[in-house]
Amino acid sequence: MEDSNTWQTRRQKLINILKEYGFSIDLKSLMRELEYSNKKYLIKDIMSITKTLRNEGLQLVISPPSCKACGYVFRHKKTELKIPSKCPRCREQRIEWPSIRVILIRKIL
Ligand SMILES: [Zn+2]
Repeated sequence: MEDSNTWQTRRQKLINILKEYGFSIDLKSLMRELEYSNKKYLIKDIMSITKTLRNEGLQLVISPPSCKACGYVFRHKKTELKIPSKCPRCREQRIEWPSIRVILIRKIL
């Protein structure tokens, strides 16, 4: 299932989606769209394409996950991508997954 051919194609698709879409996309939608069997693979792929994007003058922007029940926002490092399973404040498990988008950063010519 997760052979190298599959994920290379998927990483390219992921890059294309992010470049074409322009808005934030939540990881749940991406997972469904690209038919990932596990969120770990998706996170791994997202982290691995950041360098490719940077080479093209693009930067990945991560919006942190939040709790749907109480609105708590999970504070991670800017470059960190995590999908928490439980809210530390109200202990609910209805978590809004993080979303990502790419922005154009100025290139030094
Ligand atoms: Zn909460």
